[in-house]
Amino acid sequence: MGNPCGYDVAVVGGGIVGLAVAYRIVNRHPGLHLCVLEKESSLASHQTGHNSGVIHSGLYYKPGSAKARMCTQGRRELIEFARNPGVPFRICGKIVVATEEREMPHMRRILDYARANGVEGIEEIGPERIREIEPACRGIRGLHVPGTGIIDFAQVARTLAQLIGHTGEGNQILTGHEVVGFQRDGSRSVVVTRQGEIRARLVINCAGLNCDRVARLDGVHPGIRIIPFRGDYYDLAPQATEKVRALIYPVPDPRFPFLGIHYTRKINGTVDCGPNAVFAFKREGYTKTSFSLRDTAASLSYPGTWVLFARNARYGLHEYARAISRRLFLRTLRRFIPTIEPQDIRPGKIGVRAQAVGPWGQTLDDFKIEIGEHAIHVLNAPSPAATACLAIGDHICELAARRLGLSP
Ligand SMILES: Cc1cc2nc3c(=O)[nH]c(=O)nc-3n(C[C@H](O)[C@H](O)[C@H](O)COP(=O)(O)OP(=O)(O)OC[C@H]3O[C@@H](n4cnc5c(N)ncnc54)[C@H](O)[C@@H]3O)c2cc1C
Repeated sequence: MGNPCGYDVAVVGGGIVGLAVAYRIVNRHPGLHLCVLEKESSLASHQTGHNSGVIHSGLYYKPGSAKARMCTQGRRELIEFARNPGVPFRICGKIVVATEEREMPHMRRILDYARANGVEGIEEIGPERIREIEPACRGIRGLHVPGTGIIDFAQVARTLAQLIGHTGEGNQILTGHEVVGFQRDGSRSVVVTRQGEIRARLVINCAGLNCDRVARLDGVHPGIRIIPFRGDYYDLAPQATEKVRALIYPVPDPRFPFLGIHYTRKINGTVDCGPNAVFAFKREGYTKTSFSLRDTAASLSYPGTWVLFARNARYGLHEYARAISRRLFLRTLRRFIPTIEPQDIRPGKIGVRAQAVGPWGQTLDDFKIEIGEHAIHVLNAPSPAATACLAIGDHICELAARRLGLSP
């Protein structure tokens, strides 16, 4: 299995973050030997393959934060990368729509953030301009963000993997290799997988919904726990898709880390509506009834989860009600497009977000990357990490080079 002489770098996780990190490393340091270890039989099976597919512009993130920097840089790099054949994308623009006066202060704060983050072309718009851009949409004020786009992130991940494969025989993508432990062998890590052992000078943990577990296997106390939040989508039925031209977003509730239920016209012309955000009983489960005793016990035995629940009980119950009731979901959608009818929506895909939560119930907003003794751990890479993947890759590539004694 793998390379009997071992690798310089082993990346755990074949999602978009792990693959972007690997891609940057093999390109900048062609002499290194690298492997990507993915537990599933195919790449991009989890968050990367179950998301909204939006190339974010960087408007929501606190100026100066890693998210703000990496989203704007990553967006540029992703668009450049998508010029590779076989990665269709479209810069379609989006509107963020306020439907009530009380949303205005937060909408203006987003506008300030966007300007500070260098988001190009953003402007505040009134109801007429909203209707010009999205004829079926209603709102009192909004933001128009012309640089937002759509892409298939799973396709980006597969293209990254192909390009890594083309860089030489020393680099390998090993699917079906679940990492279950770490040992030491002198200066090397021994990565124990279900297929056997792999030696590497440096391990990079990009395990998404399991990143906290992989960190603990390496003896690192991550200081957070991944609490999974399910997001359900509806699809617009074919007779209703013309009601959405591009992307329609609400003004997000500033108390929560999620952007709220939005309309997304995808690359293939279909329209997603969602996602909501409810506590999930399984980290990698894609039905409303998915349940894992291990995952549920991990979440509910963590004090931070209970603090989070207690603080947001009303919001949580409302989200659950909306997850069960199609009527409530429809009501949310009608805030923006009043002509959406019950027969216009049908159940769509489901995604699960890896949300890092601290012991006091705080949801970690920014990306979190921890440098351990033998490994680099990506411990919080929520949205917009798919947009920012190549910028995250650049950053981790520099950290890895320093750790391996190479010039960055
Ligand atoms: C509903 C939803 C909507 C979103 N919308 C957007 C959006 O529009 N735009 C945007 O930029 N971002 C969006 N995001 C966020 C984005 O999808 C994630 O930030 C990104 O996909 C994270 O990538 P990742 O590689 O870290 O994680 P993942 O894609 O989850 O990959 C982690 C990989 O690690 C593997 N793994 C786990 N444990 C092990 C182990 N022990 N051994 C080996 N392999 C292991 C898993 O199988 C998995 O393939 C959204 C996310 C969700 C859930």
